[in-house]
Amino acid sequence: MFARLRAANPEPRTELVYDSPFQLLIAVMLSAQATDRGVNKATKTLFAVAPDAASMRALGLAGLKRHIASIGLYNTKAANILKTCKQLIEWHEGKVPRNREALEALPGVGRKTANVVLNTAFGEETIAVDTHIFRVANRLGLAPGRTVREVEDRLDRLVPKPFRRHAHHWLILHGRYVCKARKPLCGACVLFDLCTYKDKVTKWTATESPPVSSGVPRPGLRSRSRRWKRP
Ligand code: SF4
Repeated sequence: MFARLRAANPEPRTELVYDSPFQLLIAVMLSAQATDRGVNKATKTLFAVAPDAASMRALGLAGLKRHIASIGLYNTKAANILKTCKQLIEWHEGKVPRNREALEALPGVGRKTANVVLNTAFGEETIAVDTHIFRVANRLGLAPGRTVREVEDRLDRLVPKPFRRHAHHWLILHGRYVCKARKPLCGACVLFDLCTYKDKVTKWTATESPPVSSGVPRPGLRSRSRRWKRP
């Protein structure tokens, strides 16, 4: 599975825009129940005036809220971000710690956010299980589990070493763009023949795309004419 995902996208990246571990941490804190696009729109102006912990803390609650008011739960997020900035300044000289325990001690930072920061900012081989990875791991039969922690622990145990660094992004992007929640694009899926999902769609329909979103045609798929017909 991972060899195919790597072939389709050798260097997967987060879609959040950031220039430092601090900015990534803030973007991930803002991304809970929000789209990356919405977060990037808000952080574009926010990071221009407050690129680090000291300047963000100096914005104050009202100043920070002005920048992130378009994002869901912004009141709670703003309060947590300011407390986190204070803690970073007082405990870590304004820097984001490369350490799970210290990250999870920051207000508003849970295991998932810590995993994203450790993986994306510091290159650690962590896998942050979000809604996309939870769905994909269960549908594929790759790491079935009833809770995100169960899925994370299984992925930790079974993802082979060469794929651990990027497994997180491969699975998220696969879930976001191919194995979508309501209508998975099975006809465009490079993992089709490996997938155990009982409701996987076996044929392309007129509204689905040919296998281009993953960049690699599904193995064993016969080529078809340019007109796809609803089965
Ligand atoms: S075949 Fe369908 S259900 Fe299975 S991983 Fe691919 S898109 Fe998801």
